[in-house]
Formats: sequence, C-alpha cells, structure tokens
Amino acid sequence: MRALVVDDSSAMRAVLRMILRRQEFEVMEAKNGLEALEMLPGIQPPDLILIDWNMPAMNGFDLLQRVRQDERYLPSKVIMVTTESSAAGMSSALAAGADEYIMKPFTPDMVVDKLHMVGL
Ligand SMILES: [Mg+2]
Repeated sequence: MRALVVDDSSAMRAVLRMILRRQEFEVMEAKNGLEALEMLPGIQPPDLILIDWNMPAMNGFDLLQRVRQDERYLPSKVIMVTTESSAAGMSSALAAGADEYIMKPFTPDMVVDKLHMVGL
C-alpha cells in the first residue's frame, strides 16, 4: 500500500510517516498542496492521501478538490487532517469527496481506526 502525506509541518509528517510505516505503508510526502499536485503524476496513484487542512501555497481543501476532479485518483482514499478551528469545514470536505477526517491532536490508534473505517 502506498500513502501520500501532505502537510506543511515536518514534525507532523514524521509522526504520520511513523504510524503509516507500522501499518506497512510505503510513505511519500509533500509539504503543501501544490507540491503534492506536482508529485502525483510522477508516482503510482496512492491508496491513501492524508491531507492537512492548513497549508501555504495550496491548502488542503483546494488540493482535495483537485484530487477529486481527477479520475486517476478515484480509488484513492482521502483523509483530511484538521484542527478544531477548521472542523467547521469538514462537512464541505466530506461533500467534496473526502472519505474521513482526523482531528489534531490524535493518537496512533485514532489514525489506525480511521484507516480501518475507510477500508485500509
Ligand atoms: Mg498545516
């Protein structure tokens, strides 16, 4: 299984990478939505895309919309990673095609639960 972690925080990417590797994912990383969009055509479509909500250059919601407009990524599960302050946006994220969301701060078990909820 392949995962793409998109987050502007290198510390957050490291935490998510560790959790996902324990679940046998091969993990790729991008530091904002723009970088993710540039990276995606050059890699095999990920089984999972974890998208931080708040990022410079291109935020998580814009990236979600771009990903869901591209049929190559229809099979990819998308989980948004959000803070309480952006929780209000989660209904629009789910309407835009996100499969699930994770609220920060989270524990490794919470992430694994969400993976199971989306069938991974
Ligand atoms: Mg962020």
